[in-house]
Amino acid sequence: MSPTVKLLINGEFVESSTREWRDVVNPATQEVLARVPFATADEVSQAIASAKQAFKTWRKTPIGTRARIFLKYQQLIRDNMKPLAALLTAEQGKTLADAEGDIFRGLEVVEHAASIGNLQLGEYAENVAGGVDTYTVQQPLGVCAGITPFNFPAMIPLWMFPMAIATGNTFVLKPSEQDPMVTMRLVELALEAGIPPGVLNVVHGGPEVVNALCDHPDIKAVSFVGSTRVGTHVYQRATLNGKRAQCMMGAKNHAIVLPDANKEQALNQLVGAAFGAAGQRCMALSVAILVGEARDWIPELVAKAKTLSVGAGKDNPDLGPVISQAAKERIHGLIGKGVEQGARLELDGRNVMVKGFESGNFVGPTLFSGVKPGMALYEQEVFGPVLCVMEAATLDEAIDIINANPNGNGTAIFTQSGAAARRFQEDIDVGQVGINVPIPVPVPLFSFTGSRASKLGDLGPYGKQVVLFYTQTKTVTSRWFDDAASSGKVNTTISLR
Ligand code: NAD
Repeated sequence: MSPTVKLLINGEFVESSTREWRDVVNPATQEVLARVPFATADEVSQAIASAKQAFKTWRKTPIGTRARIFLKYQQLIRDNMKPLAALLTAEQGKTLADAEGDIFRGLEVVEHAASIGNLQLGEYAENVAGGVDTYTVQQPLGVCAGITPFNFPAMIPLWMFPMAIATGNTFVLKPSEQDPMVTMRLVELALEAGIPPGVLNVVHGGPEVVNALCDHPDIKAVSFVGSTRVGTHVYQRATLNGKRAQCMMGAKNHAIVLPDANKEQALNQLVGAAFGAAGQRCMALSVAILVGEARDWIPELVAKAKTLSVGAGKDNPDLGPVISQAAKERIHGLIGKGVEQGARLELDGRNVMVKGFESGNFVGPTLFSGVKPGMALYEQEVFGPVLCVMEAATLDEAIDIINANPNGNGTAIFTQSGAAARRFQEDIDVGQVGINVPIPVPVPLFSFTGSRASKLGDLGPYGKQVVLFYTQTKTVTSRWFDDAASSGKVNTTISLR
């Protein structure tokens, strides 16, 4: 019998009493690594109740105490980087090098949480009226919840609970049921760093657990990262229940390649960003628009894609497997549709075989040219190693294509022209823009700022925006009577006197 993944309730790792379980499967081998429970309604309520109780004291815990936990936590993550990456690779499939990247991008948020003393500051204005001052404090909300996807099982949970907890909230996390093990290891390390019982809780499960988190009156805010379909549902359900919600969702990220780009660099960056992590990144570049003479670069693009190695993540190839057999079948289906709908299949990754891992969910780099809006391949997020190449005569035409696409997660331009890059930056309607940078995910000094159909809610995860998301601004207007200044008259007007 494989080991079971535990729930975390009130500081204890407990076995779920549910009868509904799901296997956690190694995508390279189909080995069952563990079984994850779908928590019962009662277990979800217990987790929320424990967070509610813990909030009473945690909200008053001094800034320095909160910050020091995250100082210790970042060191524990660093010390455990190799075993964490190995676990992540085993259950998620990505290469070891990329697994370390996944953990590292989360670690940066933990480091940021350690500087919470500088981030959660209020404002003060003296003499807003004679002898009257106004100041603001950023107070924690209460119990917050996080729901995370399979593709970054370290980074995305770390986008959420460290900042929520550092700002004085308590938290209930619902990790992806496809790869919850590395998330649980990170949670164990968080407790080891000193997070008190009840401040962080974990429940596992699917739609029922997520709905319970969206409905429960004691949850004040919900952070979600995942697909557009589920994120839209979570946003609607949580906000209908009066909660704050932020949902970071699906994407279709385009890169424009101008003919004056540094060709070698641009093609390398494009291939890395399209096929890295087997295309399972919300910021993967899945569409390249070649402009003008850059349209002649397709053979070189294909040649570069062909050089990539596919294999088990633990052997550090260029691409590991996709998450599940179902995901592989879906990707195969969309490739088939692309052919059917008239796109030119320049490179077909459907029949890739990896020696020694014959049952792995491998899909090799796949490249289509002649892709047009309306094709299923273009309209849907493939979330696999498939690059769609489109063509445009001018930069304006390329910008129009991107702005007509509903998604707004990320985009990039490759050019040596400052003027072209500047125009792109100004006119493109996408929340995260790269200039000769293929995956422009901001570091936590800034916030993740996907836009349009890729995001619901005004404030992004991590960075300054998330401090506002996880806190309520309270303004205090105060006057201390000075005997000499007091007029002694009744003021029946709205004016401050
Ligand atoms: P998903 O939407 O299937 O799952 C996300 C979470 O929602 C999981 O915890 C899952 O258990 C839960 N869930 C699934 N179905 C549900 C339902 N019907 N009702 C309620 N909850 C449900 O996403 P995924 O496949 O795990 O992740 C891939 C997706 O996430 C891609 O679309 C990708 O673009 C997106 N993503 C976006 C970002 C971003 O920052 N914008 C980052 C990473 C991933």
